[in-house]
Amino acid sequence: MHKDIKEILFSKEVISKRVNELARMISLDYKNKNLFMVGVLKGCFMFISDLVKNVKLNLNIDFMMISSYDGKQSSGVVRILLDLKQSIEGKDVLIVEDIVDTGLTINYLVKNMKARKPASLEVCTLLNKPSCRKVRVKLKYVGFDIPNKFVVGYGLDYKEYYRNLPYIGVLKDEVI
Ligand code: 5GP
Repeated sequence: MHKDIKEILFSKEVISKRVNELARMISLDYKNKNLFMVGVLKGCFMFISDLVKNVKLNLNIDFMMISSYDGKQSSGVVRILLDLKQSIEGKDVLIVEDIVDTGLTINYLVKNMKARKPASLEVCTLLNKPSCRKVRVKLKYVGFDIPNKFVVGYGLDYKEYYRNLPYIGVLKDEVI
């Protein structure tokens, strides 16, 4: 275990099993459809790469990069740093997020995507902190509900570090 981690919430094996379950659900729900996945960078990079390997569909993948956090605090202001390359009009779109906390970021993204007139729009998030919600959001696929703790690893960072950890863990208080 990394020296800055005090607790592992989900091991590599547990994450892998759950991601495969999500992939199976998505494959069933979108059977006979073309799915357009929108990964939200950077946090989603490990999750989406494991997820798509097990999604048995005709799949398009595109990415957005947004910034809503500065260190550990949600600013509530979302900036699009990188936008989609393709139009999503008339397409079945699934947004793939690393974590939904206050819900402000995904709420903004859903509104932004809806304005582009997709045929359908759903959200898949690996992690969900239901107790932190400030706005209501509809999440179709959730990997794990977690308590109000700041987590890193498996794509999630603290000040751009720890994304490469293969597990999801809680940082020691003295690190933050
Ligand atoms: P929200 O707008 O829902 O409060 O926050 C969503 C974004 O905040 C996520 O995409 C993620 O980048 C960041 N975030 C929220 N909670 C955590 C956390 O516990 N750990 C890390 N590393 N990022 C978080």
